[in-house]
Amino acid sequence: MHEFSMMMSIVELVKSEMEKRPVIKVTEINLEVGDLTFLSHDALQFGFQALVETEPRIGPDSLKIIPVPAEVKCSDCGFSGAMKFADSEANHLMTPVFQCPECAGPVEIVRGKECTVRNIRMELED
Ligand SMILES: [Zn+2]
Repeated sequence: MHEFSMMMSIVELVKSEMEKRPVIKVTEINLEVGDLTFLSHDALQFGFQALVETEPRIGPDSLKIIPVPAEVKCSDCGFSGAMKFADSEANHLMTPVFQCPECAGPVEIVRGKECTVRNIRMELED
């Protein structure tokens, strides 16, 4: 399960941050998850809860997932903005289109592939 291994490295990161200061409790972990990662938010939450079970200082409900919409930049016409998605009739899933919505030129992905911790809120000892 891709989400679980992803979550493992995130929990590791949170724990290494906790080692640097006298933490009483981690109250909020803001995780940015790009639309193009195709990670299931439910599976991320599930993996997180399983991983923090043995760490009472991390609240099981502290993970906040912030979805990041896909954004592209065109090298031909300079367009930059939301990525085009096509509604595939076969499976009713939105498929990203790697083409400029303006000129159909090749695009570079600017946002939407990240799975990164934006910030962590902690309660510290006085
Ligand atoms: Zn273009």
